[in-house]
Amino acid sequence: MGNDTGFLEFKKESPPLRPVEERVLDYQEYDTFFSDKELQQQAARCMDCGVPFCHMGCPLGNMIPDWNDLVYQGQWKEALAALHSTNNFPEFTGRICPAPCEDSCVLTEHYTLDADEKIRKVNAVTIEEIEKHISERGWTEGWIKAQPPTELTDKRIAIVGSGPAGLAAAQQLRRAGHAVTVFEKDDRIGGLLVYGIPDFKLEKKVVSRRIEQLREEGVEFRTSVNVGTDLSVEELRNSFEAILLATGAQNPRKLEVEGHDLKGVHYAMDFLPQCNRDVAGDSIPEEEKIDSGNKSVIILGGGFTAADCLGNINRQGAKQNIRQFELVNMVPRPTPVHEETDPDCRANILTESIMNDGDGCVKELRGVKVKWENKDGRMTMNRVPGSEFTVSTDMVFLALGFLGPTLDGLVEELGVELSVIGAEKSRKPAAVKKMLKNTQPVYTICSNENFMTSEDGVFVAGDANRGASLVVWAIWEGREAARCIDNYLMGKTVLPSTPQAEVLV
Ligand SMILES: Cc1cc2nc3c(=O)[nH]c(=O)nc-3n(C[C@H](O)[C@H](O)[C@H](O)COP(=O)(O)OP(=O)(O)OC[C@H]3O[C@@H](n4cnc5c(N)ncnc54)[C@H](O)[C@@H]3O)c2cc1C
Ligand code: SF4
Repeated sequence: MGNDTGFLEFKKESPPLRPVEERVLDYQEYDTFFSDKELQQQAARCMDCGVPFCHMGCPLGNMIPDWNDLVYQGQWKEALAALHSTNNFPEFTGRICPAPCEDSCVLTEHYTLDADEKIRKVNAVTIEEIEKHISERGWTEGWIKAQPPTELTDKRIAIVGSGPAGLAAAQQLRRAGHAVTVFEKDDRIGGLLVYGIPDFKLEKKVVSRRIEQLREEGVEFRTSVNVGTDLSVEELRNSFEAILLATGAQNPRKLEVEGHDLKGVHYAMDFLPQCNRDVAGDSIPEEEKIDSGNKSVIILGGGFTAADCLGNINRQGAKQNIRQFELVNMVPRPTPVHEETDPDCRANILTESIMNDGDGCVKELRGVKVKWENKDGRMTMNRVPGSEFTVSTDMVFLALGFLGPTLDGLVEELGVELSVIGAEKSRKPAAVKKMLKNTQPVYTICSNENFMTSEDGVFVAGDANRGASLVVWAIWEGREAARCIDNYLMGKTVLPSTPQAEVLV
């Protein structure tokens, strides 16, 4: 550790966001960068703790104190190597991770006296910024290159799904020498990195340069192939020794109230991919366009997906009467897009119905306040009498969360067991499909400690395995599943593991 008083000398700083009035006019990333010098000053704040909680807070077990010090010393290439030793895609997590490492940083527990004798909280090291900066430096310096395997095996692995879990597994397995084919039902590779997360958080050129690296390493990509529909499970089984399901968990929670199917009510995942396609220059048929320009809008939900809808809505020009309602007792977390139009954000709001304007379009939303009570360890929701309200709106976006992986086709044909949250026994996909007709249970594909499903040789990773989560977890799952697949095929493995993350699961 180079500077043992850095955390007292320097305050936590982040580079400024681009000005609101400028950034709402385009879809480029709203973040800016520090200079190398400013970043080194921030890295100097790291105390190199004996027990680095940051490292344990990171699902990937990133070696944070090590690369903080290397950055402080100006050893950027070594910092990049340390970063890549646990994370295949630090330029993704450096941009869009909610940074549990920073929440865990020991500095968040410290207070100090300012020059004016006021007690000041010492904030966490700006770990995520440092991560992003190191990886960008790696790209601009040309240090990040393809690392094709030096020896090849005769094993073939099919990865279904090209989100961060599938990509991380593909890179690890290819580097272990296997023939890897990634199947993707969409026309572009990247999963939610490309067709969920907007460009203003993660520009797509950042994703495509990584995909090029994987391609150069020898990973084969096959787009527009919906496995289970365009390619049968039998064909897959016959051509590959192992299969990894990295299909995500994109089955959305539905809004089951009167008016949910009116014109102007849209699922977030019908809107967001379309916005990203538009930014990518694809032509969207006029009749399919979802355009919030000059309209009043309500977003239901308080997570990432809702915030991403908001950012797109801001850029489409729906400047007035933007509301965001969350059902649970948590005001939607403020993000940079919230400062762009300052929407009316409320927690504890239950939507009761969406009313028709007489022509089949949305006219207004009727809601009521609710109160949550803990009854014998179970949270129960009660309407607050007299709190009913009606607001007029032109559009409603549904960002109510996700139930689990899509069941039709692949999952059903494979017949892998599913685990339903709250149910004791695992169930076959057909049984879960039946349940979905009456209730909306959250479910995942069952796996053992080796990421293997109930079917021999079929593995699962990412959101399909753990439920809708984070990019950092998807990368971790992809890496760990790759190690288990390598071991299954070869009887031993050369791939690394990050056991710390298992402690935190
Ligand atoms: C709108 C939105 C914003 C988000 N923002 C953030 C964020 O800022 N930070 C963060 O950390 N996390 C964020 N998340 C969560 C994060 O994106 C996911 O946790 C992560 O992408 C999961 O990775 P995955 O590889 O498991 O699945 P996905 O990224 O969902 O990829 C799965 C892929 O599998 C493909 N597929 C499915 N079935 C088949 C089939 N039968 N044949 C072929 N292909 C198939 C799908 O088309 C998809 O491309 C966000 C999620 C959403 C929805
Ligand atoms: S917990 Fe914070 S101060 Fe301690 S090593 Fe990690 S980043 Fe540095």
